[in-house]
Amino acid sequence: MTDENQGQVVVEAIIVSGLIAMQEQANKTAVYPKANGRVYTTMGLAGEAGEVANIVKKLMLRGDMKVEDIFADPQPILNLAESLAKEMGDLFWYWLQMCTEFGFNADKIAQLMFEKLADRQERGTLKGSGDNR
Ligand SMILES: [Mg+2]
Repeated sequence: MTDENQGQVVVEAIIVSGLIAMQEQANKTAVYPKANGRVYTTMGLAGEAGEVANIVKKLMLRGDMKVEDIFADPQPILNLAESLAKEMGDLFWYWLQMCTEFGFNADKIAQLMFEKLADRQERGTLKGSGDNR
């Protein structure tokens, strides 16, 4: 949870729930060869991240257009925004399914992430680099 009203981000450890139901739903639609499920979902997640990055690149390029050009034909921008939303969904599906393939509880993964961020904030290490700061 964030509170940027004071120009300061406040990260709290929160209880995550609801991802398990989504994880189970994603698994019901998993139709790939399960023998290579860990590799399939890992590569799928990376592929979808690339698709998201490509759409953002295209949006940035459109951002360099003159305003009058965008308003002359706004449809390409709207189509890209819709595509971005769909690709982010694909990314999420692979994330959920990767949790399943590696035997992780999606709620627990999210919980650990928020706890890590809250700890970093408490220690003043939110900014910086490195996994173990
Ligand atoms: Mg996709």
